[in-house]
Amino acid sequence: MIQSVAFLGLGAMGYRMAAHLPKHFDTVYVWNRTATKAEQHATEYGTQAASLEQAIQADIIFSCLPTSADVEALVQGLELKAGSIWVDCTSGVPDAARRLEETLADQGVIFLDAPVSGQTIGAENGTLTVMIGGSAAGFEQALPAIQAFGKLIKHVGESGAGFAVKAVNNMLMAVNLCAVAEGFMTLKAHGVSLNEALECINASSGKSNVTETVMPQRIMNRSFPLTFALPLLAKDTGIAVDLVRDAKLSAPLLSLTQNLIQAANLQAEENSDFSAAIKMYESWSKITIE
Ligand code: NDP
Repeated sequence: MIQSVAFLGLGAMGYRMAAHLPKHFDTVYVWNRTATKAEQHATEYGTQAASLEQAIQADIIFSCLPTSADVEALVQGLELKAGSIWVDCTSGVPDAARRLEETLADQGVIFLDAPVSGQTIGAENGTLTVMIGGSAAGFEQALPAIQAFGKLIKHVGESGAGFAVKAVNNMLMAVNLCAVAEGFMTLKAHGVSLNEALECINASSGKSNVTETVMPQRIMNRSFPLTFALPLLAKDTGIAVDLVRDAKLSAPLLSLTQNLIQAANLQAEENSDFSAAIKMYESWSKITIE
């Protein structure tokens, strides 16, 4: 029986994910590096803003920080409660998951890598996809808490498998984002109306999440709302190419995409959404995709 849960990291995703927990559990601790966000969360959703030491006494501890390095630094030196489960929803590095699984096991704590997909709207609606690596028994125990914000929740393998699936997923999205930028740039150069072209493609075999949602909601209307930061996508594509390299495989399309996203990130303005990666193509071609 889960008596208490905690959520560490109330960023764009964590703030919304943690909001679902009080509907299912009486004791929900929230902790954030900038404490005022946790206090605001408590006021808004009836959670309890806690110190890190207090929060980690929960039965299930969720974390959602930018990188695995941030999670590893946070875990360092913490005295955890034996029998608890740490569910890390960061989009992280598989090797780090295995290190954390081992480190936490010394304290009798199970570590699960449990990255999520579905963007901030999925976090808000509690409809995230959650891909989980680690102990199957730990997965079963933590499942009722994960269900608070997840819709499709899958145990995908041993420690690190969840992070691997997430990195490949985001790489696939990035490949498509680059391809869509190149395709629409070409159409515009040939005098085609992009709104009509988008409608046709969204009723044809070339459609994708990028054409169906990212293009109309972020790019074509020039809003580029910051919900998933471009540096985070660059991190994810980096994790994916590291996995390719570790397996001694050749994946030229993924390597090229990583280079493109990295370059777009380097030349982007601060606080750019991932969709703003297409601005790199626009600066090369002097064509605006609108
Ligand atoms: P944000 O940048 O919005 O939030 C990051 C959170 O982590 C903040 O609460 C921040 O605290 C905290 N934080 C940052 N650095 C540290 C640190 N060194 N120690 C402790 N806390 C820290 O990120 P997101 O919520 O967008 O992303 C979180 C994770 O989820 C990432 O791995 C991302 O790739 C992934 N993700 C994001 C999606 C999205 O649409 N945004 C979708 C799916 C996955 P503070 O408030 O003090 O800055």
